[in-house]
Amino acid sequence: MTIGIFMTAAQSEKTMEQIISLCKRRGFIFPSSQVYGGLQGAYDFGPMGVELKRNLQQTWWRDMVYARQDMYGLDSSILTHQKTMHYSGHKDTFCDLMVDCRACKSRMRADHLDPDNPVCENCGLDDLTEPRPFNLMFKTNLGPVEDDASTAYLRPETAQAIFLNFKYVLDTQSPKLPFGIAQTGKAFRNEITPRHFIFRVREFEQMEIEFFVKPESSDYWHSYWVKERLNWWHAQGLSGDNLKLDVQPESDLAHYAKATTDILYRFPHGFEELEGVANRTDYDLASHSKNQDTLSPHAKVKENKDSTSKLAVQDPESKSWYIPYVIEPSAGLDRGMLAILSEAYTEETLDNGSDRIVLKLPAHLSPIKAAVIPLAKNKPELVAIAQTIQRQLQANLQGIVRLENSGNIGKNYRRHDEIGTPVCITVDFDTIEETTSDPKLVNTVTLRDRDSLSQERIPIEALTEHLRKKYFFYHYEGNRTDQ
Ligand code: ATP
Repeated sequence: MTIGIFMTAAQSEKTMEQIISLCKRRGFIFPSSQVYGGLQGAYDFGPMGVELKRNLQQTWWRDMVYARQDMYGLDSSILTHQKTMHYSGHKDTFCDLMVDCRACKSRMRADHLDPDNPVCENCGLDDLTEPRPFNLMFKTNLGPVEDDASTAYLRPETAQAIFLNFKYVLDTQSPKLPFGIAQTGKAFRNEITPRHFIFRVREFEQMEIEFFVKPESSDYWHSYWVKERLNWWHAQGLSGDNLKLDVQPESDLAHYAKATTDILYRFPHGFEELEGVANRTDYDLASHSKNQDTLSPHAKVKENKDSTSKLAVQDPESKSWYIPYVIEPSAGLDRGMLAILSEAYTEETLDNGSDRIVLKLPAHLSPIKAAVIPLAKNKPELVAIAQTIQRQLQANLQGIVRLENSGNIGKNYRRHDEIGTPVCITVDFDTIEETTSDPKLVNTVTLRDRDSLSQERIPIEALTEHLRKKYFFYHYEGNRTDQ
């Protein structure tokens, strides 16, 4: 008998506590250094979390780099030269305003407080200090001597190294404008108040593109990337109702930006930024370039006496040099994961009266692609067939195919629902000639669909193709203008 779904709880009823609890229980995400009481603002990704995170990052790379002719990849160092952060402006301006509560000694971000009634987030009293800037960058020292000369930074964004490598990519790959450089990797910010699980942390991963364009076409490319990135998040299973755009007012723009549109997601704690798409103008390349004044006279940057490189391109017709503008779609991998987990988390009552939690993840993101379950663990013939199927699928599908050999099928279904496995494959007595009552069922297995709970019987030899077509065909077309 196939069990149906009677009732599904609404998106608005999902809470962060439910998601945190599932992540901990099922091996997705744990607080870092838990053995020593935890490290604030840092998390570790367990066996399920690392798969989900990699699947999301690899999907981004495939769709943003491999699928395009105008994109080049990069993997730069995390340790960053102090002059990079000086000329980028981060050393002076990458600050949040912080206030202290005189009563309970808590620290908090001034812009997180109600401007009409600023009170302490911890104790509720209004005995707060005046806001003062706090630089979010993590400093370190290179080598054994701790002095100013040895100071380096952990990058607060992956972007700066893309600007520093602009010339290197240009000289080695000979791209024509417009083109982009893409990078994913860790970034570090000493957030005053990390909060909302992996939404605001001190160590996180970004997926960033710096897309270099002619200055006069920068408005066009800015709108192009806002649309493109919004579409991509839709393709990762985020629904239209839970995504919206937010054009930043001029007063809120970062020091480098001419315009920024944020892509917001309805996280369990409310609509907040998932990705920012900024028009950074020629600010960064000009900041790091020698002879910047002759190349980009209007760039509002510090005079650079240290740079050895001219970060500019030559117009093929006029032969004059100019600094391209850059459009930056900058997404958080951790925030992306949290959005996808929030969207997928579902509580349902089945029509047999039981409740279940199920992660309705898109199949290409699921940590485990399929579970193969012999109905009885003490029947060696069933186990042997399940092992053969597992090996065959493992060789053909991208991701984990798990053999579940505990014999408790109900428990296996529950666990795989909670970690988002799209399909469970059961080898039962009908699969084997000597035990079946129906010869048509020999060498077939039952597929149980995670979302609909429907069951179908498929010949073993047709399994790989069937799963590929039904579950694992993912193709993102996007709006590529480069082909
Ligand atoms: P916020 O306003 O939320 O602090 P931001 O505008 O400073 O974010 P950006 O500098 O635009 O963020 O960084 C690009 C992306 O990096 C963000 O959209 C977000 O997804 C991610 N990100 C930034 N800070 C953090 C953080 N502390 N924890 C997790 N992800 C982050």
